[in-house]
Amino acid sequence: MPAAALTGEVAQGLESARIRQDFPLLCRGAHAQGLHYLDNAATTQKPQRVMDAIVDGYTQEYGPIHRGLYPLAEAATSRYEQSRATLADFIGAASPDELVFTRSATEAINMVASGWVGPRLRAGDRIWVSRMEHHANYLPWQRICRERGAQLCIIGLTDDGRLDLANTPQLFAPETRLIAVCHVSNVLGIENPIHQLCADAHAHGIAVLVDAAQSVSHQPVDVQAIGCDFLAFSAHKMYGPAGIGLLYGRAERLAEVEPLLLGGGMVDEVGEGMAASRWADLPARLEAGSPNLPGAAGFAAAAGYLDGLDRRRVQRHLADLTRTAAEALGALPGLRLLQPPGASAAILSFTMDGLHPHDLAQVAAEHGVAIRAGHHCAQPLLRSLGLAAVARASFGIYNDVADVEALVQALEDARRLFGQGA
Ligand code: PLP
Repeated sequence: MPAAALTGEVAQGLESARIRQDFPLLCRGAHAQGLHYLDNAATTQKPQRVMDAIVDGYTQEYGPIHRGLYPLAEAATSRYEQSRATLADFIGAASPDELVFTRSATEAINMVASGWVGPRLRAGDRIWVSRMEHHANYLPWQRICRERGAQLCIIGLTDDGRLDLANTPQLFAPETRLIAVCHVSNVLGIENPIHQLCADAHAHGIAVLVDAAQSVSHQPVDVQAIGCDFLAFSAHKMYGPAGIGLLYGRAERLAEVEPLLLGGGMVDEVGEGMAASRWADLPARLEAGSPNLPGAAGFAAAAGYLDGLDRRRVQRHLADLTRTAAEALGALPGLRLLQPPGASAAILSFTMDGLHPHDLAQVAAEHGVAIRAGHHCAQPLLRSLGLAAVARASFGIYNDVADVEALVQALEDARRLFGQGA
């Protein structure tokens, strides 16, 4: 399909052009001119509101958290805890105490591996992950299983890229301790049936961790409706700051997590010598060290920004844009989309016959189109597909049909440049 044939019928909902005005980098940044930023699954740009909250965190309320009695320290503590409460609302948690600030989704998953699974995993037990997992939701389980003599089992995929649950009869066997799956795949753009998976797992007394790194920015996520035990995500993929993430844990599960980091703030009483120490209550027990107030404030501002746009509209916008892009890309000769039909999670991975994905990304860059090429930290998935690398375009709230047109134009030029075009 020629780029010009694309219509603008995307998103009855979002006005992307207006939204772009909220993002200084996209309007006034050194690279803004002609930029089509389609690498949102890697990281997203930040609205001014998030940056203001970070600056306020330093200029208005910066002080030690949970450590001072003077008004500034109390204001800092209150802002930090308000941020936690905002984020608890954002994911539908029963209480802010079920949220632990981490550095990232990666750290959140590692905390569960070392602090909850580690102490209860025995030789012969099983952890299940799926073949589409990001390395962040694969390596921690691989290591803990190796250390404990347990087995890391893989949920395979059907031909159209979905979890092959029908052919995984051992998934709910008595040896299974935990199932760890992504809500949305960072390569396939597929949404997994996590509500059903949690219900089935719980019926067998098995815990579930959901990696929501690629879903929180795309759609409403409600941890109580999902019914998961743990859920992990990062701020920087949902228009929030880098360097901060969250671990959600259902109250009774989180209470069982041993702290990964020991130090200030997470302990009520420290005995001398080898005497036992008494940990603080949750969530402080899992947040050793000085908390990141500006990060938490920016994170909460990003949640507020998304809620202000109406997350159902955001979801529709991204689904419509993804469908439009999939149709346009799918019509290009030699272009193969990895997505199964119907996947609508704002992520499109693809290859083009005769062209290396890095060449595609390079030509796209010359058109001002920022896409990613590589294994996307999902080597088990790519290996199973017989691929070493793929190109990936991923959409955000500020993208519209013009970005898709620029991508299509770039890919057509890449074909011509590399001698595949007519
Ligand atoms: N899980 C998925 C599905 C991801 O796509 C990513 C990052 O790309 C992560 C986990 C890790 O996120 P972070 O690097 O922010 O910890």
